Amino acid sequence: MIISEQKNRDELLQALEGKKKIFLVGCAACATACKAGGEEEVFRMQEWLAAVEHEVTGSMIIDEACHMLRAARDLREHQLQVEQADAVLVLACGAGVQSLSASTDTRVIGGLNSLFLGNIRRFGHYEEKCSLCGDCILNETAGICPVTTCAKGLLNGPCGGMEEGKCEADREIDCAWHLIYERLKRQQRPGVFARIVPAKNWGKVKKPGRHKIK
Ligand code: SF4
Ligand code: SF4
Repeated sequence: MIISEQKNRDELLQALEGKKKIFLVGCAACATACKAGGEEEVFRMQEWLAAVEHEVTGSMIIDEACHMLRAARDLREHQLQVEQADAVLVLACGAGVQSLSASTDTRVIGGLNSLFLGNIRRFGHYEEKCSLCGDCILNETAGICPVTTCAKGLLNGPCGGMEEGKCEADREIDCAWHLIYERLKRQQRPGVFARIVPAKNWGKVKKPGRHKIK
């Protein structure tokens, strides 16, 4: 999922300058799981907006704000409230904000910062797991991504700084390559250690990304 957090209130106030009437949008997917843009956060944002003398014309939570057709349809269902607003404040990741921007000519303001693609370790604790490199090596690395979880993104590790299984960049954190080695050992296979992995071809990551199921 996309891990996000709310922008600080000063930045938001600046972005909202001159926009007194606001329509609020949250996302029921990643932004809810991150406690950044779910029902509770939309409600709290509504309270804060009232406290800083902004009027909320309405609000909605989209199932997945990054689903462009759904975002456009949901926005149409709230057309009157959107038309009454000076701006639409979106508590969703950058992809969600862009779904909404594409669906209305009303000014759309993003209320979150998208941080990374990651997992929930436990409540309120998120970890980056994938850098979307376009050429996944997980099948060889026992399901542990060195591109993302090794501090140096090494494809042939560990580096000389590993000590007792800990990373030299942060001794509190396990060395990704030590974890890969230990898990492959338990699986009784050499995996990635059977070869020297060539430098990653980042050319496989095309910007902007496009993908169609054939
Ligand atoms: S190797 Fe790592 S960064 Fe690349 S796709 Fe797989 S999990 Fe993502
Ligand atoms: S100690 Fe391990 S995780 Fe840290 S930079 Fe070196 S190889 Fe990567």
